[in-house]
Amino acid sequence: MSVIEKLDHLNKHIQEICLRVNRDPSTIQIIAVTKYVDEEVTKAVLDAGVIHIGENRPENGVQKWEALHDRGVWHFIGSLQSRKVKKIIGKFDYIHSLDRLTLAEELDKRQTKKDPIKCFVQVNVSGEETKAGLEPNEVIPFIRQLENYPTIEVVGLMTMAPFFENPERTRPVFQALKVLRDEVHSLQLPFAPCTELSMGMSNDYEIAIEEGATFIRIGSAIVG
Ligand SMILES: *Cc1c(COP(=O)(O)O)cnc(C)c1O
Repeated sequence: MSVIEKLDHLNKHIQEICLRVNRDPSTIQIIAVTKYVDEEVTKAVLDAGVIHIGENRPENGVQKWEALHDRGVWHFIGSLQSRKVKKIIGKFDYIHSLDRLTLAEELDKRQTKKDPIKCFVQVNVSGEETKAGLEPNEVIPFIRQLENYPTIEVVGLMTMAPFFENPERTRPVFQALKVLRDEVHSLQLPFAPCTELSMGMSNDYEIAIEEGATFIRIGSAIVG
């Protein structure tokens, strides 16, 4: 299947899921994760009408950004070392992996634009040791401290669920992230509107959409 066919299939599936759970498909943004493919395929993804592009490595991501950034909205979805911040700052529109104050400090220090940097706070809901992110109970104290970094805006929360053969098993992870998102949102912190949920990948986006995802991060189902 071509990228276009895969996207078509994905969009139809999203429509079906939305119909079933009574959601408006326009409230779900597809981030095409292009980390597996080169600039040419990334361009093909943009040509197919995708707006949001996700990359997880500063080097590869910036290389593609240099070539293609007059198109698309760019999301940095990988874990981000503080010393790599200067590579990506001012280029990526969203950062999905804010998980520590030293990173917030570096982002704040390096920011070159007047607009705030749109960040998702990454949460390790499942508690898997290999996964990045804050523990759920650390999230609210962490976000409160972000008040000290005025160029950061917490647009939402992000998680990666464990890989399960049966994606149904990811449901509690997504439900917990939504509860936490609602809790942060209800604090009404001016720097943390926290309206978005970045959750769901190729294997589990159906469950994520059912549980309220607003950004799904899809790699292999588009470019695999
Ligand atoms: C690779 C990656 C994805 C996409 O994974 P697929 O299973 O290929 O859809 C989503 N989110 C993050 C953080 C990733 O690193």
